[in-house]
Amino acid sequence: MSSKHEHVIVIGAGLGGLATALRLQFAGFQVTVLEKLARPGGRSNVIEEQGFRVDTGPTLLLMKDTFEETYRAVGQDLQQRLKLIQLDPHYRIYYHDGTYLDLFANMAQLAQEVERLEPGSRERLFRFLGAGAKKYELAMDFVVRNYTRITDLANPSALTRLMQTRAYENMYRQVSKYFNGSDKLAKAFTFHSMFLGLSPYDSLAMYSMITYADMALGMWFPMGGIYSVVEDMVRLGQELGFELRTNSPVQEILVESGKVSGIRLQSGEQLLSPTLICHTPTGDWLMTTTAKTTPING
Ligand SMILES: Cc1cc2nc3c(=O)[nH]c(=O)nc-3n(C[C@H](O)[C@H](O)[C@H](O)COP(=O)(O)OP(=O)(O)OC[C@H]3O[C@@H](n4cnc5c(N)ncnc54)[C@H](O)[C@@H]3O)c2cc1C
Repeated sequence: MSSKHEHVIVIGAGLGGLATALRLQFAGFQVTVLEKLARPGGRSNVIEEQGFRVDTGPTLLLMKDTFEETYRAVGQDLQQRLKLIQLDPHYRIYYHDGTYLDLFANMAQLAQEVERLEPGSRERLFRFLGAGAKKYELAMDFVVRNYTRITDLANPSALTRLMQTRAYENMYRQVSKYFNGSDKLAKAFTFHSMFLGLSPYDSLAMYSMITYADMALGMWFPMGGIYSVVEDMVRLGQELGFELRTNSPVQEILVESGKVSGIRLQSGEQLLSPTLICHTPTGDWLMTTTAKTTPING
């Protein structure tokens, strides 16, 4: 993809499709985003009724830097376009014996709080978070690269970090050791794996990276809910000049002489473009210029 003003079709207007569409439009391509549903957002969606809005997907924003970077890449400042409120504390955890623990964003306060619940835990907390930072770096090392060949999986620095952090161990057992067997603190610093539907008792210690991202990088609430991010990305795309077509389910990717030539919508309409980016729940990013005809069932 080198020539400017080339037409690009993005299938799917979830956060992923929208972020890609923004970058490509900003880079000079003419982007059309096709969304099968009546509104964009995908799994980050919203129910609106009687003047109230409820996010149906994620409700809080972690790893704000990822969103900031996306906006910066298209010449914008996230904080100027959206009002993000930092939450502190992130959570209040109640235990069966009536005690509680506040997980503060402020590290000094958090240290005081764990000390209140389990005297002597302050230093253990910082050791745990330090190890979480290494796991986070390890995970990011995998996430931010492309995997186009099997050899791309060979990653010596990640292997070293994996061994150092013992991220392959059982999460709950590993975290319990940091907190000297304190059941309350181990629970407070492992429940994050449940965000991925995993029990802390069965997960890999690798998932402590979520706890780290949550505790150390901050938790934010965009005023208007997470869907306000989707709305702003759409607004920004329209300012940049992309076209978003909702109620436009793609039926088929068209191929001519072994090369992608465009798509056919369920309505029968065809849109021609040599470059497609397909992001649907059924698969990962698929940027394709040569492919077999692929029916889309999403
Ligand atoms: C309750 C809930 C809580 C969550 N909490 C978190 C969280 O805390 N942190 C986090 O990181 N993630 C969370 N997620 C996951 C997050 O919402 C998704 O990972 C993210 O929104 C996915 O975006 P996406 O663009 O990759 O895919 P999607 O949002 O699935 O977007 C794909 C889009 O493609 C469209 N599409 C599919 N087929 C076609 C077709 N044939 N033609 C045209 N369009 C098509 C779909 O309608 C959809 O809009 C949560 C999800 C849910 C449901």
